Amino acid sequence: MSRIKLLSPRLANQIAAGEVVERPASVIKELVENSLDAGASRIDVDVESGGVKLMRVRDNGGGIAQEDMPLALSRHATSKIYELDDLEKVVSMGFRGEALASISSVSRLCILSNTQEQGAGWKAETEGRDMQVEVGPAPHPKGSTVEVRDLFFNTPARRKFLRTEKTEFNHLEEVIKRQALGRFDVGFHLRHNGKVIHALKNCDSQLEQERRVASVCGPAFMQNALHIDTEAMGLRLWGWVALPTFSRSQADLQHFYVNGRVIRDKLVTHAVRQAYRDVLFHGRHPAFVLYLECDPAIVDVNVHPTKHEVRFRDGRTVHDFLFRSLHRLLADVRPDAQHMPTG
Ligand code: ADP
Ligand code: MG
Repeated sequence: MSRIKLLSPRLANQIAAGEVVERPASVIKELVENSLDAGASRIDVDVESGGVKLMRVRDNGGGIAQEDMPLALSRHATSKIYELDDLEKVVSMGFRGEALASISSVSRLCILSNTQEQGAGWKAETEGRDMQVEVGPAPHPKGSTVEVRDLFFNTPARRKFLRTEKTEFNHLEEVIKRQALGRFDVGFHLRHNGKVIHALKNCDSQLEQERRVASVCGPAFMQNALHIDTEAMGLRLWGWVALPTFSRSQADLQHFYVNGRVIRDKLVTHAVRQAYRDVLFHGRHPAFVLYLECDPAIVDVNVHPTKHEVRFRDGRTVHDFLFRSLHRLLADVRPDAQHMPTG
């Protein structure tokens, strides 16, 4: 008969990593979210070989205090919520305190950081070990740099599932694009193998926002987009939706954010589809970049570890608000629906 034993911290983290760290893109998502949570206004992402060899995320956010460095890498350690009540109104991207622990258990990870108060930099390194963290002095400007090397070096079974460098990079770039659309107030820079792929400056005006959307979604989208900004019942919907004539053969240009968080949600998809129903050809998909802002208390973000899903307390109201707002906007351009579809 087999005896029961506690998992070692390393194995527990590696198992948890299975949920959060699927590929380089998922690492980038977590690291950039941490930079956003740290209040960064500029994030630089450098990757080599599709991220498999190296991913480096550098920010100018608040940094991590020297004594917190080992904690940052521990499982269930977070500076973002302290009690259950906080979960009700969580506005940060992170809160589970799992990402760094998971990532460090399946890679060689190094954090450099400097808080303004401490005025000196610190460095912590791990190598998929039993969470032993070495902390030592190292120069770094205010903010943090997290370097992840050799993803899955110690988990060959997972490494086998990685695709080509190009495919992995495409996924990773998609993450950056989605995040860049979610935070116009932050500058994003992405380099792959030393080559600049995106250099997106902070946007201060609607014009600059539209430039960023054009650069991320393609100029054709922006040329065919209607701007929306409407409010009701404590909900605000704003962003850009493509004219029905700019429909797509795939649902590949659909970005929806709730309080800055990228989400995929059936209720939202349904509301948008309904609004386009009479103006879109059968089998075509609408294109949109939309932002819903609401009281954080009416959405539950703690549904899934990747936090891509949310649950609305009152789904009906949100659905109707989305549908009505978009339907009204599209009703005004109905005659255009006669044209042939493109895209
Ligand atoms: P979570 O984001 O859910 O709190 P993580 O494992 O992603 O968990 O991060 C653990 C902690 O490390 C965070 O709560 C935060 O305090 C700190 N941290 C991680 N990355 C950064 C960063 N770029 N800047 C400042 N603090 C960071
Ligand atoms: Mg995090």
